[in-house]
This record gives sequence, C-alpha cells and structure tokens, in this order.
Amino acid sequence: MSIAQNIQRITAQLPEGVKLVAVSKFHPVERLQEAYNAGQRIFGENRAQELAAKAPQLPTDIEWHFIGHLQKNKVRMVIPWASTIQSIDSIELLQLVNKEAARINRHIKVLLQLHIAKEQTKSGFTVDEVLKVANEGSFNNLSNVIIAGVMAMATFTDDMQQVASEFELVHKTFLTLRDKLNSEAFTQISMGMSDDWHIAVQHGATLVRIGTDIFGQREY
Ligand SMILES: *Cc1c(COP(=O)(O)O)cnc(C)c1O
Repeated sequence: MSIAQNIQRITAQLPEGVKLVAVSKFHPVERLQEAYNAGQRIFGENRAQELAAKAPQLPTDIEWHFIGHLQKNKVRMVIPWASTIQSIDSIELLQLVNKEAARINRHIKVLLQLHIAKEQTKSGFTVDEVLKVANEGSFNNLSNVIIAGVMAMATFTDDMQQVASEFELVHKTFLTLRDKLNSEAFTQISMGMSDDWHIAVQHGATLVRIGTDIFGQREY
C-alpha cells in the first residue's frame, strides 16, 4: 500500500472531529511530501534537529507537532517551527516554552503529557502531579502558551484490556483538568499509535499519532 492509500484508509475510519498526526520521524522529506500531496497537513516529529532540518524544506501550511521528550537546551530550536508541543512533561519546561515563545512573539499550543504507562522510561506528569500543579494555579497566566489538552502513551503490551484502561484514565484525567482549568482552549486528547489507535478513539482521542501504519518501518 502506498502512503496515500494508508492515509486514506486511516482517515476514513476516524470519527468526525478526530485528527491524524502523521508521525514522520526518521523518514526523509520526500516521503513527507508524498503524504502532503495526499492531503495530510499535520506531521509529528520527536527530535529537535530533525524538525528544524525538515520543516524549511516542506510547504508552510504544514502544522508541525513536537511529540518527543524536549530537552531545555533544544526549546529554542523547536519554537519557530512547532505549532503544538505535545510533550510538556514538567512545569519548568512549560515556563521555558512560554518564555521562548514570548521572546519571538509567538503563541504556541501545548499538551500536558501524562505518564500512565508501566514503563519508567516514558516521561510525563503522573495523574496526581498534574492535578496538584493545576490546583496550585501554575497552568494559569502564561502569556504565550495555550494549554490545549493532554497527551499520553499506553504501556507497550499485547494486553488490550490494559491499554483500554490506561486510555480511560487519560480521558477521565482530561475531564477533571478541563473542569479545573475552565478554559475553552482545553479540548485535545492525543493518544493512540499504529497498534492501538482504534482503542484510543473509543476512549475519546481527538488526535491519533500514527507513523508505521502510514510510512512503514523506520530505519534507525
Ligand atoms: C514514534 C511515535 C509515535 C508513532 O508510533 P508508530 O507505532 O510508528 O505509529 C507516536 N507517538 C510518539 C510519542 C512517538 O514517539
């Protein structure tokens, strides 16, 4: 199947209001252009250098989402290109993104990454942490970031019950945060990858992040 066929197959199955983020990390710009020509406009990258290298070579109406762990010294490289940073995993990172966005007069959307998977290697706020931070008011009064929702990755497992219960927890946490933040901009739940996006959609995902199922295996 071609990239265009894969995109059509996936988007045809997404309910109204759910958007596809084509995760293009490790794939050359020619493959991204192919996806673009098939109508895809939202792309996800997880490394700062790779985003900064690819974005200038592709059409300017692409919406770039940064989805990887973002080191503080790489924020400045990502801000000019990303319309959304999905992987905000600490309050310090959030404040730095706000400061750097203000410096270049840009408003940037961010998602709060939740750590719900069993693996310690994955990053993000635990549910308790994120609620505590919200209660302390630390998500308020940031001039140049728009807190637009949450992002999460499920545990890497064949146990789809486990995955479903993790996505359900993300959904529940999203609703609790939405009540607390009381913001009309807080609307997005980014979850679901090639192996589990069907389940994510059943549990309220509004953004699915799909790489392999569109572009094939990555060559690292
Ligand atoms: C690579 C990646 C994806 C896409 O994974 P696939 O299994 O190739 O669909 C989604 N989300 C994040 C955060 C990723 O790093």
